[in-house]
Amino acid sequence: MTSDPRRVVLLAPPGGGKSTQARRLAEALGVPHISIGKALRRAVEQGSEVGRRARPHMEAGRLVPTEVVVPVVAGRIREGGGGYVLDGFPRDLEQARILDAVLAAPPDTVVFLAVPDDEVVRRLAGRRECPQGHLWHREHHPPAVEGVCDICGGPLGQREDDRPDAVRRRLAVYREETEPLVRHYRERGALVEVDGTGEPDAVAEAIRRALGLPPR
Ligand code: AMP
Repeated sequence: MTSDPRRVVLLAPPGGGKSTQARRLAEALGVPHISIGKALRRAVEQGSEVGRRARPHMEAGRLVPTEVVVPVVAGRIREGGGGYVLDGFPRDLEQARILDAVLAAPPDTVVFLAVPDDEVVRRLAGRRECPQGHLWHREHHPPAVEGVCDICGGPLGQREDDRPDAVRRRLAVYREETEPLVRHYRERGALVEVDGTGEPDAVAEAIRRALGLPPR
């Protein structure tokens, strides 16, 4: 008998390692990694209607209106066959309710990656990304050749919203809108908290342990 696919939400402050860990966890669980930020950045690059509506909010470090984001999430969950590791959704209590009631795909587990503010600011300031979304860090995870992605050879740049003003805004939005989700899911008994400050490999192991998966 096969069990239902897992549905896991990753919650973390901006720069807290959500995408890196979500990608690994999705691979381990055999479910799609759904990154809303990445889907939105792609829509902006393509100049689609979603991208046009999302762009000014993203560049300012604010949340994109929920009615723009939900169809993107809904499509991805549908395509993925029901299981997921969600990276970047829900972002507030309204979106959490939509995930449960409208998308009818409540998470079975929510992993909260705890990372203090000063660490977040340091990580975001050094973060570099290629057009395909491979992530590097000037100090912690530098590419072999500065400014060039080791994986695809693409040029590395800084996200518009990783600049200091937008980072401050994103942290404020996180505190006000997203952090209440930690309590919401804890009260529901779905939350596991993992220390997100170590090396990516160590954090990945801690997440696997928390979810009862065998070590790699
Ligand atoms: P991320 O890559 O998760 O840091 O997301 C980058 C940006 O995309 C955020 O700062 C928001 O502007 C936007 N975004 C991502 N996910 C959502 C969401 N669930 N709701 C609204 N805006 C979002």
